[in-house]
Amino acid sequence: MRILIIEDEAKISNALQRALIDKMYSVDIAINGEDGIFYAQTNDYDLIILDILLPDINGMLVCKKIRKSKITTPILMLTALDSVDNKIKGLDEGADDYITKPFDLGELLARVRSLIRRNSDQKTSIIEIGELFMDTSERKVRRLDKEIKLSAKEFALLEYFVMHQNKVLTREMISEHVWDMNFDPQSNVIDSFVRFLRQKIDKDFKKPYIHTLRNVGYKFSIYEL
Ligand code: CA
Repeated sequence: MRILIIEDEAKISNALQRALIDKMYSVDIAINGEDGIFYAQTNDYDLIILDILLPDINGMLVCKKIRKSKITTPILMLTALDSVDNKIKGLDEGADDYITKPFDLGELLARVRSLIRRNSDQKTSIIEIGELFMDTSERKVRRLDKEIKLSAKEFALLEYFVMHQNKVLTREMISEHVWDMNFDPQSNVIDSFVRFLRQKIDKDFKKPYIHTLRNVGYKFSIYEL
């Protein structure tokens, strides 16, 4: 899952970025509203964290402009202004949720998870599909009764697959959601990670869940293609 943070205060954005990367998200940071709008228009994010007080454009207007360009990515507003008016205004401009600064990191992460889930078919942090069990908040994975240890990237990749099961996923879609801006599209990193993931979740079992679609990409499905 890939998240955009639009916030000029480096102390806050860096702390957020660290916490989110630790939870397996890919993160980009925009330090002003103009860049934020541009990033939101050029990349397909799963969530946008947007501060209201920015050096150029007010966050409310950033939100409005993002929504105007038909981007439906969930937006979580950060606000130091603990007034009812601002909250109402933010939600009216198309934000999905807000959190007041200073915020508790644990609460923010819970809201991030909930907003991302709201946008997918998955409604809780526990995912059970076929023989696969995944706890996205505790970072645990099992297939049947075998505990599976995944690296951070493998976990993020599996989560993306599972959240979009039965859909064709191109390498471009995978890189957009699981990697960040520093991803090199020429590399075969995605294929390598899919191979690692297969070794762990498919190899010792009867039915493969990760399917290759030649020249197209991949599909996660508990059914045969
Ligand atoms: Ca700010």
